[in-house]
Amino acid sequence: MVTATVPGEQVKIGQTRLLINNEWVNSVSDRRFETINPTTGEVICEVSEADAPDVDKAVQAARNAFTNGEWRKISATRRGELLYKLADLIEQNIDELAQLETLDNGKPLQDSFGDLGLVIACYRYYAGWADKVQGKTIPINGPYFCYTRHEPVGVVGQIIPWNFPLVMQAWKLAPALATGNTVVLKTAEQTPLSALRVGELIIEAGFPPGVVNILSGYGPTAGAAIANHRDIDKVAFTGSTEVGHLIMEAAAKSNLKRVTLELGGKSPNIVFADANMDAAIAGSHDAIFFNQGQCCCAGSRLFVEEKCYDEFVARTVERARARVVGNPFDAKTEQGPQVDKDQFDRVMSYIESGMREGAEMLCGGNQVGDKGYFIAPTVFAGVRDDMKIAQEEIFGPVMSIIKFKDIDEVIQRANATMYGLAAAVWTQDITKAHAIANNLRAGTVWVNCYDIFDAAAPFGGFKQSGIGRELGEYGLQQYTEVKTVTIKL
Ligand code: NAP
Ligand code: MG
Repeated sequence: MVTATVPGEQVKIGQTRLLINNEWVNSVSDRRFETINPTTGEVICEVSEADAPDVDKAVQAARNAFTNGEWRKISATRRGELLYKLADLIEQNIDELAQLETLDNGKPLQDSFGDLGLVIACYRYYAGWADKVQGKTIPINGPYFCYTRHEPVGVVGQIIPWNFPLVMQAWKLAPALATGNTVVLKTAEQTPLSALRVGELIIEAGFPPGVVNILSGYGPTAGAAIANHRDIDKVAFTGSTEVGHLIMEAAAKSNLKRVTLELGGKSPNIVFADANMDAAIAGSHDAIFFNQGQCCCAGSRLFVEEKCYDEFVARTVERARARVVGNPFDAKTEQGPQVDKDQFDRVMSYIESGMREGAEMLCGGNQVGDKGYFIAPTVFAGVRDDMKIAQEEIFGPVMSIIKFKDIDEVIQRANATMYGLAAAVWTQDITKAHAIANNLRAGTVWVNCYDIFDAAAPFGGFKQSGIGRELGEYGLQQYTEVKTVTIKL
């Protein structure tokens, strides 16, 4: 057992190999890669590196489990019991999982605990659905009895990002398993560790061999092998819009596997002068800075009404300056490091672009400390719609404040993007709130709140923010095929 030392903590590292057919195996190539602690920039450990031959092995195991294995024969109720058991095991190991997530990803420990609350709730929510997915009887013309069955899609490939490793694993696995699919899941190269620990708990819970296979590896190799595989029936992907295009293209060129995508965003967060200002300032701060700004649904275009603009900007800068950045294992810390050097460099280059294009930088803009990948909370005001920082996903602790005059104008400007993941409005006028909620082209609209997630509430994007929905009853539809059976009476 490897242990990693972080300031004041001993974090236990579990498995580092690939999970295929309920066995921990080295990759076919025997290659391994390093995972880095973003707080220090130091290596935590090495993990096995999957490539196309490992994807083949995992798909064979998943196909066998789907077609011939024990999984095929167990009842829907039993699938639910296994998911409940997994949720219980995660809850029993919550401290260890939270520490591992913080070590590998850099998010504050208290946020890792928050994520785990969602993870456990997600597994329990879909455990409850397992034996409640049912078809219809349909009164067709003629002497026939017609009914539908909602069957699993089959072998599902799932590719997840590094910003919420545990949450993304749960959002992917729980609905797929509740509906009887088998899975080959690839984690992000930056954050392989927590998913491997959950893999151990999946075996302990009693899932049969081949039902869940977990591969650490890189996107262009292992990820692309999943997207292109001819024996994978569906691919579910969360990550950048750029890679989303590649996934869909690979599906089209191979076997027309079903595709669901949860991609990037540039979500408008709209503050009217009639809002509760304390709530709007606190909420808008969290909307962009939560998770080091590494959220697909971050409120990254902050539209503020002219009438309250000066007050809002001054108080927002004060709040950003007070944000506690530092060791993510410290209970006072609100913000840890960016996930890796690439993301750090990318965010810094957006900050430079904001300055170059003439936005007013009111705080931040610099690295914090001399090791790890920490960036000071950064606020730009006077941002124009055509600036790069108002157009592209920064994925870092960078707030862009944009002034607006009236509701029609802000709706039009908020919609002027290729994205459509989330949006929010802060107002005490119910008519305005409904007008915004109805007219914004986004998969989620929050009113006087932000980042409210629940396993029962669907999430996903309009436009280039994605295809399909995760969570809730809607999420189940993406993991079933409808079969129509017609019987002559
Ligand atoms: P990314 O490349 O889209 O990574 C997401 C997942 O896709 C990872 O598991 C990645 O593998 C995999 N992947 C990469 N290239 C692939 C390919 N050709 N075929 C199949 N899978 C592939 O995202 P990133 O490079 O980590 O981050 C870049 C930007 O994406 C961020 O700055 C942010 O704007 C956006 N992003 C969005 C989300 C979201 O939640 N919507 C999450 C993360 C990033 P490896 O990482 O192992 O190579
Ligand atoms: Mg790491």
